[in-house]
Amino acid sequence: MKILVLNAGSSSQKSCLYEIPDANLPNKVLQPLWEGKIDWTQEQSEAEIEVKTATGAVLQEFIDGDSRIAHVAYLLNTLTHGATKVISQLSEIDVVGHRVVHGGLDYRNSVVITEEVKQAIAHLSTLAPAHNPAALEGIEAIGKSLGSVTQVAVFDTSFHSTLPDAAAIYPGPYEWVEKGIRRYGFHGISHQYCANRAAQILNRDLTSLRLITCHLGNGCSLAAIKNGKSVDTTMGFTPLDGLMMGSRSGSIDPGILIHLLRQSDYSVEELDYVLNKASGLRGISGISSDFREVIAAINQGNDRAQLAYDIYVHRLRAGIGSMLANLGGLDALVFTAGVGEKSPGIRQAACEAWEFLGLKIDQEKNQQQPVDVDIARDDSNVRILVIHTQEDWAIAQQCWQLLQQ
Ligand code: ADP
Repeated sequence: MKILVLNAGSSSQKSCLYEIPDANLPNKVLQPLWEGKIDWTQEQSEAEIEVKTATGAVLQEFIDGDSRIAHVAYLLNTLTHGATKVISQLSEIDVVGHRVVHGGLDYRNSVVITEEVKQAIAHLSTLAPAHNPAALEGIEAIGKSLGSVTQVAVFDTSFHSTLPDAAAIYPGPYEWVEKGIRRYGFHGISHQYCANRAAQILNRDLTSLRLITCHLGNGCSLAAIKNGKSVDTTMGFTPLDGLMMGSRSGSIDPGILIHLLRQSDYSVEELDYVLNKASGLRGISGISSDFREVIAAINQGNDRAQLAYDIYVHRLRAGIGSMLANLGGLDALVFTAGVGEKSPGIRQAACEAWEFLGLKIDQEKNQQQPVDVDIARDDSNVRILVIHTQEDWAIAQQCWQLLQQ
């Protein structure tokens, strides 16, 4: 089965093609035959395309075109033409899976895309204005290039649809609940993948595990996972809630917003910009939203970079504590995504806080660029795992499973 995966962002479209050779889903992660990426410049009329294949062919070029959909069609063309050709015709693709950020309350599982599903994704664009419209564009582009191929939507919110009401509902007026203002949670594809992978690594049944997964990338979120189900998470109604992130503030006192609206001349757009783009590591350090640049600045003695790091750690520990509160114990703490996978310092700082509970990190293993391994000491009460998140592969798996049904 050939599965094309599309992962649409506000200014990029990532894509990859997997081939599942046998009748069964392999136990291990497959590497894609082909990976492509489009980065749009501000004008959106120009795009940079980058393609690489499993055999080592690489293509990098700038292209023009009247629409983002035309750019996606161009990218798909590289699957069947030139040095990056990996299949003879696009009709060889059996199914296309799309990452869709917001599935609202109705989509608790991945679904085959119909007109009704498209309308629902469009309707939910008010809740994910940067992402859901981009996913719809991808769906439309595939329809134009591949005709009636089966398309599947895999939602980032689905995994958190099991949150109990007490975790999901904000204690505002009850009419918020009726209007759908509640915690949805995000990064679900990654949290779910990491939970399954953790069970594999630990050689345990997922339904008997209590896990906290820490997805620490540009966006950051935690999930408390009990018996395979998400029971709490730090992102909320939008991906702005929870931990301090690269350029997002995470949770702040909502009274600050009232104060700013009343006392300053902030417009809604300015608030949106400040909280999403000019806060977090970038806002406090004044250096960058990129964790590596913040660390480099700390090493040069920059106090604001140090403060940004300290707040990040403080909030990460506090978040882990809040996830811990309703799990009734912990079998494994899992780190994933850019910072979680690559920063031994953050893992060390996060774990230190829980040493009194018998969670003990192995300093040496932590330093050895661990991938999909346990870095807890033998005498630790809790396992500590570093897992390379594979969201695209998780989407491909969901497509495969859905088609088997
Ligand atoms: P996204 O959320 O956009 O998918 P990633 O998961 O790739 O992002 O994470 C990006 C973050 O990971 C950035 O803050 C980057 O600085 C950080 N990162 C990447 N490599 C390293 C590294 N070697 N050490 C520390 N942080 C890193």
